Amino acid sequence: MTTAADDRFAEKTTPFLRRLAQSSDAVRTMYEFDPAHEDVPANRGADLFLEKQLTRTKGLVYKYPGRAIVLLSYTCAANCRYCERQDRVGVGLDSEGRLTDADIDAAVEYVAERTEITEVIFSGGDPLTHPRGLERAWTALADVSRVAILRIHTRFPLQAPERVDFDLLGRLAECRPTPYLSLHVDHPDELTAETEAAISRLRRLGYVLICQSVFLKGVNDDVDVLARLFTRLAQLGVRPYYLYHCHPIATTMRFVMPLADEVAIMSRLRERLSGVACPQHIFEMRGTTGKLVVPTDHWSVDMTAVKDFHGAEQDVRSVAMDVQLPSLERLPPGRS
Ligand SMILES: *Cc1c(COP(=O)(O)O)cnc(C)c1O
Ligand code: SF4
Repeated sequence: MTTAADDRFAEKTTPFLRRLAQSSDAVRTMYEFDPAHEDVPANRGADLFLEKQLTRTKGLVYKYPGRAIVLLSYTCAANCRYCERQDRVGVGLDSEGRLTDADIDAAVEYVAERTEITEVIFSGGDPLTHPRGLERAWTALADVSRVAILRIHTRFPLQAPERVDFDLLGRLAECRPTPYLSLHVDHPDELTAETEAAISRLRRLGYVLICQSVFLKGVNDDVDVLARLFTRLAQLGVRPYYLYHCHPIATTMRFVMPLADEVAIMSRLRERLSGVACPQHIFEMRGTTGKLVVPTDHWSVDMTAVKDFHGAEQDVRSVAMDVQLPSLERLPPGRS
């Protein structure tokens, strides 16, 4: 039987991160449950980014033209407090959430039938927590000649670098499609010697390495911190790709920065960084599809209204933040 307490996004970390957190406030903040802000249920019913509505077979989201996302496993090595999928990741809704062989075969069949799909993205949760499923899906998709890119989105090498299965990743990289691997890194403290060694092995295996990051108040809301992060990543051969506005969901509000503060930081980064170290600043609207590139403050732009990819004009406040969510009521006190 589930209780209300199970609705919370569980604290989960690794021995590696516990050691790192002793010397890094940023890492501690990223993983430590904060009862002052998180004593609310994960926002299960919501579908802010239409992933539930656009699920075609179990775990397969077809939302972006030409590329399918496969949510292979809702488990992660550790739970990040700002996770945008915390209504599904970890304990509570679906504690394991790994796709079965039959689910994977159905997802592969969907891709095989949709003639416009040329790229498949493995995400979750963390696809590296389901190695057997990843290999089954990857090798089957490699047989679909139209699929040219296969991508893994993971934080595993930052959370448990000693447990990364390089033998598996080596086998996958040898398949026909071009292998991409997107790391999600938010702070330079995450680039430990162990993680940098893992990155260099992934490069040698042949992955095109990119990085997605999230603006996080109290963690990386600082020009110097982000300049160090992106410069180091570029030097390691990981191309900074996206820097997202943090999704404001029930428990993440303490991390969400005003868009204007992000634009100010991003504008300074654009001036300072090498082009290969500077990511795109991305704002994803809720309730519609499309990742928008946010302009820097070098341009005079009215930042109050945006258009989505269908041309519909939206009020920035209604698609960004400060919107009351239905499940923001607190859980009854006394439960832990
Ligand atoms: C947007 C998104 C993608 C794919 O988008 P690209 O713009 O092609 O990188 C994959 N996974 C997640 C979680 C996303 O938000
Ligand atoms: S690793 Fe990714 S999916 Fe897992 S908790 Fe962190 S942000 Fe969420």
